[in-house]
Amino acid sequence: MPYCPSCGASVKAMQRQCDQCGRFLKSKTAPAQRTSPDDPGGIGWGLLGFILPLVGLILFLVWNDTKPRTAKAAGLGALIAVITVFVLYIIVWIIIFAAFGAL
Ligand SMILES: [Zn+2]
Repeated sequence: MPYCPSCGASVKAMQRQCDQCGRFLKSKTAPAQRTSPDDPGGIGWGLLGFILPLVGLILFLVWNDTKPRTAKAAGLGALIAVITVFVLYIIVWIIIFAAFGAL
């Protein structure tokens, strides 16, 4: 059972505000929104994932729990790279079929 950090009264785990003193309580069940120096996220990791999709995918899987922001950036870069390659692949095949169709 968690306790209110202000007055020490016992509060329920899902309770957002203390009944005794009215202090707002931090929910431990909610995902942490704090920015960690170990978890910078950002465009750099996205770029890495885009250039090396396999590395981006691995980083996404490895860091998904410990560094969610960085993992998401790297995974998103990898996903964009895969989609880009897939789209280019489709376009190339459309061009090839169009060229053969014109013959
Ligand atoms: Zn309290």
